[in-house]
Order: sequence, then C-alpha cells, then structure tokens
Amino acid sequence: MTDRNRVIFFDTTLRDGEQSPGMSMNLREKIEMAKQLERMGVDVVEAGFAISSPGDFQSVKAIAETIRGCTVGSLARANPKDIDAAWDAVKDAADPRIHLFIATSELHMQYKLKMTPEEVYETAAEMTKRAKKYTSNVQFSAEDATRSDMDFLARVIRGVIAAGATTVNLPDTVGYTAPDEHYRFFKEIHERVPELHHVTASCHCHNDLGLAAANSLAAIRGGARQAECTVNGIGERAGNAAIEEVVMGLRVRKNYYQVEYGIDTTEIMRSSGLLSRITGVKVQPNKAVVGENAFAHEAGIHQHGMLENAETYEIMTPASVGLKESNLVLGKHSGKHAFEDRLKSLGYALNEEELGEAFNRFKELADRKKQVYDKDIEAIVAKEAVQVPKTFTLGSYVINSGNKIAATATIRLTRGEKEIEKAAHGDGPIDAAFQAIDKIVGRRLELDDFQINAVSGGEDALGDARVVIRGEEGRMYAGRGLSTDVIEASIRAYVNAVNKMYYEERER
Ligand code: MN
Repeated sequence: MTDRNRVIFFDTTLRDGEQSPGMSMNLREKIEMAKQLERMGVDVVEAGFAISSPGDFQSVKAIAETIRGCTVGSLARANPKDIDAAWDAVKDAADPRIHLFIATSELHMQYKLKMTPEEVYETAAEMTKRAKKYTSNVQFSAEDATRSDMDFLARVIRGVIAAGATTVNLPDTVGYTAPDEHYRFFKEIHERVPELHHVTASCHCHNDLGLAAANSLAAIRGGARQAECTVNGIGERAGNAAIEEVVMGLRVRKNYYQVEYGIDTTEIMRSSGLLSRITGVKVQPNKAVVGENAFAHEAGIHQHGMLENAETYEIMTPASVGLKESNLVLGKHSGKHAFEDRLKSLGYALNEEELGEAFNRFKELADRKKQVYDKDIEAIVAKEAVQVPKTFTLGSYVINSGNKIAATATIRLTRGEKEIEKAAHGDGPIDAAFQAIDKIVGRRLELDDFQINAVSGGEDALGDARVVIRGEEGRMYAGRGLSTDVIEASIRAYVNAVNKMYYEERER
C-alpha cells in the first residue's frame, strides 16, 4: 500500500534524458550525476537501459553499486533477454527495480510491435511475472498509454498488478495529452481499476507541446503518486517533464496539491548546473526555475515592488532552489583550511586527493584573479568531479594573431613520457590552436559546438569554455576548460574533449 500523501520522484535523466541527441555521458559523468540525484533526494534513479549496449549495462551496474540512498532501476522491453540483463545490472543495488514496458496503443501494437492486443496482454503479464521472480520491486509501463483504448488499458493494468507489478506507469509517450484530460485519465483509470490504489500509479510526460510539467501536476491531482522527470527537462525530442518544475509546483502551491515529497529543493540549482557542465548544454535563460533570468527583475516598477516587499513579484525565493548570491569569499592569501571550509558550506565533500588538486587549481586561479567567488569555486570543483584519465596534458602554447596576419598556433602536449609539439595556421587563434591539437592527436576532428562564458562578473572573470567534438561514428564528446585567459580555456576544453574520446574508446 503506497503512502497516498507522498509523491515518489523517479528521475530518468540518465535514461530518457541521456538517450537524446548531444546528451550522452560517459561512465564517470553518469556516476557523478547519479550521486547528485541521490543528494537531491530523488526516490528512484533510472540508471539506463541495460540491454541497449555494453556501455549502458556497465554504467547501470556501476550506479547500482554506488548509490545506496535510493532505488536504482533499469529499463527493459517485455522480453526475457531484456529483463534478465536488467536484473544482472541492478541486482547489487540497495533497492533494485526492474522497469519493463510494452506499448498498449492500437497504433504501436499494430505497426511497431506487430502483435495482437491479446498477445500484448499475455506478454505483459508473463514478463511481469518473470521480473517478479528476481525482485519484489517491479515497474510496468504501458507505452503510449494516453492514446490507448481505455478498456484494453484497464485490462492490461489488472493483468500486470495480478502478476506482481508494484508500480504502474502510464506514459504520455508522445506529449499528446492536455492537462485537464490527463487529470481525468488518472481519475478514470483508478475508478476502472481499483487495484491501482494498492500499487503506485505513475506519470511520464513529454514536452512536445510544452505541457509536460502541467500534465504531470494534473496527473498527481488525478491520483498519480510517482512522477517521472529529468533534470532541466532533457529527454527525447522536446524532452520530459522537468523535475525542478514539477517539484516547485508542489512546493509553491502546497495548499493546492497537498502532497509530500522527498526532494531537497535547495539542491535543484546544483543538479541543473552539474548536468549543463557535463553535457555542455546550457538551459535557455527564461527556463522556469533554473534559467539564468528565472529570478531576475529588470523592469523598474517590478524592482520598486521587490524592494518594498519581495512577495510582490516573487512566488518562490532564489534560496529555496539553492541559488546563492555570488559572494566575495576568497583570495590568494586564503589557506587550504578556509578553502575546505568554503567547499563544505557549498555542500562538497572531497577526498584528500581531490581536495589537494582542487586547492592547487584554486591557488592558480587566485594568482590571476583577485576575487574568487563561490561560482568560481564550484566551477573548479565540478571540473575535478568529472575528470577522465588524461591521455594528453597541456604543456605550453604560443599564439600569434592579429587583424592583418594569418593566425598561427604552436602547441605542446604531453602524452605519457613524450612531449609532442605541432604548429598550425587557422582562421583565427582558436581555430589555429584546435588544428595544431588535431595534428598532435593525428586525427581530423570535427568541431560541433564551441562556447565561452564568464563564470562570474568582472574584468578578470574566469572563462569557462565548452567544446563538443565529433569523433568516429559521429560520437560526440563534450570538453570543458577553465582559465582567466579565454584562449587557454578553449585549448584546455579541446584537450579535455580529446581525453574523453580516448577514455571512451578504451572503455569500448
Ligand atoms: Mn519517455
């Protein structure tokens, strides 16, 4: 019997989110993200789709072994091989879950599955039983539920509950439903299948019409007690319901929804920032809750109101989502102890070695930048968190560039014991630098994306460069580099992306 007053947050950033274009993460990045999800208090982490590739299997397994504070699940199609692989990958979790699915809409059954409804019904029940032999925690999803025939859907749900499913997910797979309709859908399905009250009904909404969060909240009003979401709303096509939007909906309108949840909302900004840093994909500035402008008040009349009373234009405080002012905290005379203290208050717990490396980086930065802000520190630490083994490290670089000459770059990288130096011309200093690195690596890499942002304000701001390169088979690797010099930041980001490519190719 589930707690009727509590909504379970099921995070699928690492599965539905990760499978969308430009969002792929390597093993270390996934583990880092999973740890942050655990810290934020999600109830269930969907770690991946174990059967889909050896890499996926490995990362689901690693997350299952690492994360102890929440349920860890793997997706599986409704067939024996998928279910067995899912179990193999999650079995060492503190609380393992198998999440199997099969489509129940006429369209999907006929054209995708090429199965009759009767076959789908039988398969759903039989495969739920198979999963149940492994674990008591079995989730069944009726793919394309919102476009399924209600009589048939009800029958399938009854079948899988009888077979032992403890969570029944009814996804709006294609982002088709409307909020009032989704509310009625959950009401009606509970009326038709009273057994649903004894398990957890779940919603999984896509954002094709910009309604994923609205539909999820409507589903909760209609009786759903699990919401499937992703950080920053990433996911297939237009994405999934954003966890930050759904949970802040419940928090800000607590009296309206009247449900509890386990999410620590002050971890929202950090989760959002970590995902952006890992993938190199920023959220739009006006994105609800986590966008850069979500708490900015520009208009004079609004500012006046805010000064009189923040509630005039503010329904939630920046602090409630973990947004901190960029405080002046440390400088070049700050010692390791002060640095460690500041890290602790920002919520980072590093081991001795990580702390040492982060402190060195901090000292380097403080030498070049008078004022080191919290954001700078977080940038330094995030860099520590998701490092891969360094095939190449930057030795030195010389750039010659101007408005009347062709840019040239000479770069020296170290690989093991060897130092390799190459020079190249380019269309501007950064292009020249990237071409010189390509020569050292001995491959022509395609640059897919390149951005530089200032981490904090001021003329000596830390530059945060992100590059995305395309390697063999069109695989993308995002790299990141920090420096007060934007060219150095760019070179470091490129080398970081190359190192990730080597790391992943070795892992495969
Ligand atoms: Mn989905």
